[in-house]
Amino acid sequence: MSGFVFSEKPIQIERGEGPYLYTDDGTEYLDFGASYAVAALGHAHPRVTEAVQEQVAKLLYVQASYPNSTRTELYGKLAALGPTDETRSLDNVWLCNSGTEANEAAMKFARNATGRSKIVATRRGFHGRTMGALAMTWKEKYKKPFEPLAGGIEFVTYGDEEELEEAVDDDTAAVFLEPVQGEGGIHPASAEYLRAARDYTEEAGAALVFDEIQTGVGRTGTLWACEGAGVVPDLLTAAKGIANGLPLGATLCADWIADAEPEHGSTFSGGPVVCAAANATLDTIVEEDVPGNAAQIGEYLRGEIEAATEEHDLPIRDVRGLGLMIGIEVKRGSNRLLRDLALNEGILALPAGRTVLRLLPPLTIEEEHADRMVDALIEVMT
Ligand SMILES: *Cc1c(COP(=O)(O)O)cnc(C)c1O
Repeated sequence: MSGFVFSEKPIQIERGEGPYLYTDDGTEYLDFGASYAVAALGHAHPRVTEAVQEQVAKLLYVQASYPNSTRTELYGKLAALGPTDETRSLDNVWLCNSGTEANEAAMKFARNATGRSKIVATRRGFHGRTMGALAMTWKEKYKKPFEPLAGGIEFVTYGDEEELEEAVDDDTAAVFLEPVQGEGGIHPASAEYLRAARDYTEEAGAALVFDEIQTGVGRTGTLWACEGAGVVPDLLTAAKGIANGLPLGATLCADWIADAEPEHGSTFSGGPVVCAAANATLDTIVEEDVPGNAAQIGEYLRGEIEAATEEHDLPIRDVRGLGLMIGIEVKRGSNRLLRDLALNEGILALPAGRTVLRLLPPLTIEEEHADRMVDALIEVMT
């Protein structure tokens, strides 16, 4: 019996611990994709497990219109941890169940607060698979069969300030940007580009939205990637690693967005079990300076891959990324490499398009895990 939409791989995973996944017969895999960047702290993290078990025994779910201390704690934590500067802080939090929903909410909130409908998004960008977020996603293959999607989306070249300046006008509700494009091939934006986006949107009275669903919760070496660039958006979306495995999306927004009181809701918004997992995850990330580890090991890993490329003349065109969000652009297709890494080397990684290997390991990995990845790359590439 198979799932209906996902193509499955011939490795049946039943257990996890730290950066490792195991089959029933005990075969070990190093999870260098953190299962779509979800296992930010590694699998079966004891603190998350304990928080979830405690909450499960107390209360699985209560509707979001009744305050609950576990949910209130998460609202406060996210508001306190959100990026901030002298003029902006993202104190208002909307909780949902996935990344795409967090972006749908951001779209609605921005439209509602500005009374406008045009959205500027980027070529190669990825924002999710529901009809609104999908409309802002670039890849034709994802969109074509489902058109017509939400209208009013204008695409600009990622990184091109002039094109962006031209696109953002008095009809623009929002600009959606990933601070590092993930699915599109791991392309970091320059701090100047993000700052320019801040200036253009501010001037036009539009909302700047950073989709930090992949870059957030420490992945790029700071808690949020936009902190590294020193730019605070009006809305920030998070998901993937935020609850270390339970489904949670969050849309953080500035007062001017929240004060416009968007009509929105979701049955499962902020269920206490998911919130308990997120509280434990965020506490661990902050207390153990997990972003600092991601910065340090990420830099080490990129350096080692570059050194190996030179020393062994590996068929690698480019190594790029930030923290533990790393793309390796290879000269031939990435599919065979991913298969060989998994089946011969016991390492699971991800693609980003046809020619990029995407590394998104748990943020808690150490040099020994990075070394194992580099040795495996040399092995499958020579
Ligand atoms: C994964 C991802 C999404 C979609 O999140 P889902 O939880 O799969 O809906 C949106 N934006 C970015 C940048 C992502 O990486």
